[in-house]
Amino acid sequence: MTTALVDNHHIHSPAAFPAAMDPARVLIVDDERVNRELIKAILQRSGYQALLAKDGDEALAMLRECKPDLVLLDVIMSPMNGFEVLRKIRETYRDTELPVLMVTAEADRCMIIDAFREGANDYLTKPVDPEMTLARVSLHLRLRQAQVDLQRSQERYLMAAEGSQIGLWDWDMTYDQLYLSPRWKEMLGFAESELIGSIETWVKLIHPNDLATFLDLLVKRNPSEQVRFDCELRMLHRDDSYRWMQCTGIVLCDAEGKPRRLAGSLADITEGKVRDPLTGLPNRLLFEEKVERALGAAQSGNCNSAVLFLDLDKFKIINDSLGHDAGDLLLCEVARRLLSCARQMEQSADAALEVCVARHGGDEFTLLVHNMRAPHDSHTLAGAIIAALSEPFQLRVHEVSIGVSIGIAFCNQTVIHSLDLISQADTAMYCAKTSGRGRYRIYDPEMQVVAAARLALENDIRAAIKSDQFHVVYQPIISLKTGQIESFEALSRWQHPQETSIGPEVFVPILESLGLIDQLGEHVLRIAGRQIELWNEDRDPRSPLSITVNCSTLEFNQPHFSRDLLSRITMAGVNPRSLRLEVTESALMENPDSARKIIEELREFGIKVGLDDFGTGYSSLAYLHRLPLDLLKIDKSFVRSMHHGNEGYEIIRTIISLASGLNLDVVAEGVETLEQHNLLTELGCTHAQGYLYSVPLTANKMNEVLSTQQRLVPASQPATMAPLSDRTEQDIDALLDLLSELTTTPHELSAR
Ligand code: C2E
Ligand code: CA
Ligand code: CA
Repeated sequence: MTTALVDNHHIHSPAAFPAAMDPARVLIVDDERVNRELIKAILQRSGYQALLAKDGDEALAMLRECKPDLVLLDVIMSPMNGFEVLRKIRETYRDTELPVLMVTAEADRCMIIDAFREGANDYLTKPVDPEMTLARVSLHLRLRQAQVDLQRSQERYLMAAEGSQIGLWDWDMTYDQLYLSPRWKEMLGFAESELIGSIETWVKLIHPNDLATFLDLLVKRNPSEQVRFDCELRMLHRDDSYRWMQCTGIVLCDAEGKPRRLAGSLADITEGKVRDPLTGLPNRLLFEEKVERALGAAQSGNCNSAVLFLDLDKFKIINDSLGHDAGDLLLCEVARRLLSCARQMEQSADAALEVCVARHGGDEFTLLVHNMRAPHDSHTLAGAIIAALSEPFQLRVHEVSIGVSIGIAFCNQTVIHSLDLISQADTAMYCAKTSGRGRYRIYDPEMQVVAAARLALENDIRAAIKSDQFHVVYQPIISLKTGQIESFEALSRWQHPQETSIGPEVFVPILESLGLIDQLGEHVLRIAGRQIELWNEDRDPRSPLSITVNCSTLEFNQPHFSRDLLSRITMAGVNPRSLRLEVTESALMENPDSARKIIEELREFGIKVGLDDFGTGYSSLAYLHRLPLDLLKIDKSFVRSMHHGNEGYEIIRTIISLASGLNLDVVAEGVETLEQHNLLTELGCTHAQGYLYSVPLTANKMNEVLSTQQRLVPASQPATMAPLSDRTEQDIDALLDLLSELTTTPHELSAR
């Protein structure tokens, strides 16, 4: 053996291993010392660590103690020859774990074949060629390292997959071979020995509605598309239910860029998919599935299920004014009460009766009552829910009250799809809501017509807001002392493209329910604000006119109302001192403390605030003197019923007296006759508004009236009644008495 060859070792340097790693350990087993030392020298010069064993027993012992990475094993040895040692090694270590290279004197073909059969990885012939030795050692160490790395990564992957409860899959497209991990199968209730075969095995389990998506993803891939994909699909479990699965994968392409293999993971996301995270109730998806099943039963003649559709009354106001956290708390408490109603119903009825409560979304809930004895069961449940939800709710420091409107629809053979039945219950709920809230209605096909008309109207109104179909008319408010116009009330009209002008009693509630009322408010403020500035330009600046705009309860109770209003006024270039805002008692009583704050803020900027329709919401008269108001507007129903000395007259007299005690202006609205005008003047009412003076007119028409100097105020006697003082408390009592007598004739008050 020449030593010269050893100089070439550098080409097989173990630098192929990461620098930080220990040098690879090679065990040299040879019974001749000179051979051992020679190989040792070759290896050590290349940076390997050489371990030496003189026979089989020593070799096996060193294997256990020193854990070499590779073995060079002499064939001819005694007492144990190389084959016997190899056999023993292979009892413990696989060829991928520990490479063994046989070293043999002659390259005997039979001997080499036997060596491979016994599990040798390779062989070297004696005398050893240093370069060849280093090349082979290096090759097998690399192969071993690759194997170790692969195994580690596989183990890591499997552990991660098991830990995260996901299933793995791998589809070889060329041979249509599908691998599904045990966990994949387990998630769908199958054993490891099942579901073996082609992609069809999988396809068969996919919900018909999700199949197209899945196949598109798998097969119709465009090579330019992303190589990763992610989809949600329903898959059939062994128990016949569908589970929601998230399927993610990656496409592996061949050298030509053609997809050859798809692999990825599958995770069961059913729980997250079908539960509402806030309340923990089943969500819309799961509910629909349950209704679908109930309808299936109905098809076979068991028509004993009903769907209840619930919508909370006044939820939005609470959510907007107290914040979303309070809103969330409220929804959770509602869910709890609904579940309690459902459980009570189940206990009090037949054992078979079942109630499922779900959250549909927002402030809408749905219930499925299954196995009812009679339709009446669903009425009983609806009644119990209305009672339970009308009890006040304690949301941390706030006590709030809401209500609920419920629609009921029954399963029957004519309804096939769950969505249709739920929509019928929704339609009935809508009718319950429009017929006065806090009640339930049972679906009747007639309702569909009403609902369709309403939907059409809603769509028209949405379009109208976008395309400026709302305009403003103006009605003068007269000072009864001077006979002069002091203000104009801005009133909205909708010029429907196909119909004549539509009044606010139609569109204001709809705009409110669509959440668009503030857009109307902004529009009116801009138009009317600009108009009043124009009218004031031509006037004596010492007696400017003001503009009165109406503000809906919902608008007034929106968060940041005063701040938003002020910025709108600034944007529209309106002088705040020209603005009067009219709000109703319900707007103020929703939250009296915040109402007082808002009014104070507005007044700081010079905006006046008046109470509209005074007398129609008399439940909270006692609050009145605590609010910093500027004026009261007597509702037209009182003015209409007023005759000398009658009840209406007494009410108005008391209101005027009360207002003057509180230092407020009083505007009587709906003044149509000279008698009313005279009586109001006689009672000391400060202002009046009504058809007697002028109907609401467009700005152009009003310009004509103003320019012709037409006299709006009829000749009348001067005011006779001196302002009263210190009588506020008695006035409130007197007014309460009078108004409570009036409850026997409620039509007068509900005229609006
Ligand atoms: P309101 O604030 O009480 O407005 C007075 C209503 O009485 C107006 O009805 C007006 O046209 C009517 N009126 C005036 N004088 C007489 C009269 O002598 N006799 C009778 N019978 N009625 C008279 P309109 O314009 O139909 O408005 C109805 C309600 O719609 C208003 O009641 C107001 O609350 C609301 N509204 C009108 N425009 C707007 C608006 O731009 N925004 C908001 N949020 N609400 C508005
Ligand atoms: Ca008004
Ligand atoms: Ca009014």
